[in-house]
Amino acid sequence: MGFERAVVTGGAGFLGSHVCEALLAGGARVVCVDDFRTGSPDNLPDDPRLDVVVADVCDPLDVTGPVDLVLHLACPASPVDYLRMPVETLRTGALGTQHALELARATGARVVVASTSEVYGDPLEHPQRETYWGNVNPIGPRSVYDEAKRYGEALTCAFSREHGVDAGIVRIFNTYGSRMRPDDGRMVPTFLRQALAGEPLTVHGDGRQTRSLCHVDDLVRGLLAMAGSGHLGPVNLGNPEEVTVLEVARRVIEFTGSSSVVEHVDAMTDDPRRRRPDISRARDLLGWQPEITLAEGLRRSFDRHPVG
Ligand code: NAD
Repeated sequence: MGFERAVVTGGAGFLGSHVCEALLAGGARVVCVDDFRTGSPDNLPDDPRLDVVVADVCDPLDVTGPVDLVLHLACPASPVDYLRMPVETLRTGALGTQHALELARATGARVVVASTSEVYGDPLEHPQRETYWGNVNPIGPRSVYDEAKRYGEALTCAFSREHGVDAGIVRIFNTYGSRMRPDDGRMVPTFLRQALAGEPLTVHGDGRQTRSLCHVDDLVRGLLAMAGSGHLGPVNLGNPEEVTVLEVARRVIEFTGSSSVVEHVDAMTDDPRRRRPDISRARDLLGWQPEITLAEGLRRSFDRHPVG
């Protein structure tokens, strides 16, 4: 990887903690900036090369000394979280991203900003390529997340154009794995929790809406490949294997050996019907593609941190 000192905002969260571990394993020193609003210090390894700065990224980042990589992941990411703190989510997307970019500008570091497949909204093109501009409802409840990320992308491009910052944007599609909170509202930990408790697995709507699920180990590999490249992107990172929500529920029931049944509940507002990344760009530019199947990914997530 070759990074000496990396700053990871949101490093105590689900993805961030896996990224911190991978950077440490690659020989880097790591500064994690996080205020634990959705993450936890328990997610972080005990390592003398890891410094933890407890701070809100809406304030300028108080990091001194040389930095050669900034990975900006801080942002509430689960619908349960961003619907609970809508204004804070917008502030984090705007001010937090600006501060990450300013740190990169001041230190000359490469910066990679985590965007999301949600910038495509309820997509009218399928699968989603990076050239698609999206179909986002700018005033619906989910817009606090989607528009914060779209603004973050615009700001990243502006810092690249105006200030010559070495920046990259990754559009992350649904990712799952160990350390997701059982109650964070996202599909895989919710289904696992429900299956292990013998409760019905709650499927919104008819369950025929599709998702593409990427295991965190694959995702981290892609993120670090982007960090090591000089590309601005945006680059989609996700698993192109499309699976219905109902099928995920069935696989979780099978995997856990649970006697739970599926229960259909109301569809969510502006919930996308179909979601699948076109990852040609990631393949071409980064030589990256996911390798972990859903069955293997469930085993890895479940073996390491049983939910429930
Ligand atoms: P997470 O909620 O587990 O982690 C986010 C971390 O950021 C937490 O540790 C939280 O405490 C911290 N944080 C949030 N706002 C902050 C603030 N203002 N100041 C300081 N710290 C703050 O979420 P995650 O799933 O790990 O997502 C990480 C990033 O990846 C997010 O930017 C998210 O939008 C993006 N992303 C994730 C997915 C996914 O499937 N997990 C998909 C698309 C995009």
